[in-house]
Amino acid sequence: MDTEWYVVITMAFSDEITQWPPEKVRQMIASATPDAVERALEREDRTPADLAALLSPAAVPRLEDMARMANRLTRQYFGRTISLYAPIYISNLCAADCVYCGFAAKSGIRMRRVTLKDAEICAECAALAERGFRHVLLLTGEAPAKVPPRRIADAARVAAEYFPSVSVEVYAMETPEYALLEEAGVEGVTLYQETYDPQTYRQVHLSGKKMDYAWRLDALERAGRAGIRRLTIGALLGLYDWACEGFWMGLHGRYLQRTCWRSALSVSFPRLRHTPNRFRPPALVTDAQLVQLILAMRLFLPQAGFNLSTREPAWLRDRLVTLGITSMSAGSSTRPGGYASRGEEVLEQFEIEDTRGPDEVVAMIRRAGLDPVWKDYDHAFYRETGTV
Ligand code: SF4
Repeated sequence: MDTEWYVVITMAFSDEITQWPPEKVRQMIASATPDAVERALEREDRTPADLAALLSPAAVPRLEDMARMANRLTRQYFGRTISLYAPIYISNLCAADCVYCGFAAKSGIRMRRVTLKDAEICAECAALAERGFRHVLLLTGEAPAKVPPRRIADAARVAAEYFPSVSVEVYAMETPEYALLEEAGVEGVTLYQETYDPQTYRQVHLSGKKMDYAWRLDALERAGRAGIRRLTIGALLGLYDWACEGFWMGLHGRYLQRTCWRSALSVSFPRLRHTPNRFRPPALVTDAQLVQLILAMRLFLPQAGFNLSTREPAWLRDRLVTLGITSMSAGSSTRPGGYASRGEEVLEQFEIEDTRGPDEVVAMIRRAGLDPVWKDYDHAFYRETGTV
């Protein structure tokens, strides 16, 4: 593990964000004027005030201008490519109780919970490799007693035999645990804050270590400190006001770019659609709001990769593919064993909307004039040069 490059700073992001409380951020967004939007569009290195303006109602009449700029910036930094990845759920055990999630301990959904054995992980990997994938994301719930970091590292070693690029989306860890994953070949860590609003966070996370807002918020910095080369942030859209979430997410992204500068930043835009019966999302995000969010984020974080999963319907993914997105999942299953065995009786985390197979998604990307990329070139480049 190489930690020398990590820049030590005195203020964690969980401290920094306290300078931007919800009332202040709401006020900045609500009071943005057309002139502020114009200034935000003209500037190259945009400020937090610019981001607030781009997320505001005043920016709605300028969405076409934002789309043109977002497309130009995306092509400038990422070329005409869209990389493809697939999730592999290695466990659906979870001791946490997040009210919006089908895996939650108290979700009320009674279906089989399993943790895949190495042979079953091999079968999942082989099935995805045969479909062309070269980049996978391994996922678990929050059950560190039953699926400890060492078990996740073992699963990553298995997956690394099939794929040049392996990332994980698991519970928040300590730096040495992230180092264990890095040594096992894990290139990327995805960790959504779910909501950056502390009060909403408390209301929707009812048990488990995940209840600790600051612990989770600072986790990706710990991953960067452990040498993880790709850090992916996100807010679960639908829990709180989307524009405020976008503002905080933008600041979080800038913070990680500043402090973990040897790692590449990505942003995901998971939108809550299907939830267990006990929970109705309080702040559902419309398609138009999702588009504005992605465009504003592209103008604020021009060099960040943007992911869009199969949570979104096919018709919307087809349109967003040219508006800032750089990476897409395809043909996804959200249950352990979902690729190699039919696995219908096993609990899934959520229903996907875009049910097209990888071939159809590849064809759609080509029709949009872009090149689908199966292999993660950042990873190959890093191995050659030591930097992303
Ligand atoms: S969101 Fe994650 S931690 Fe929360 S219940 Fe679902 S799987 Fe568990």
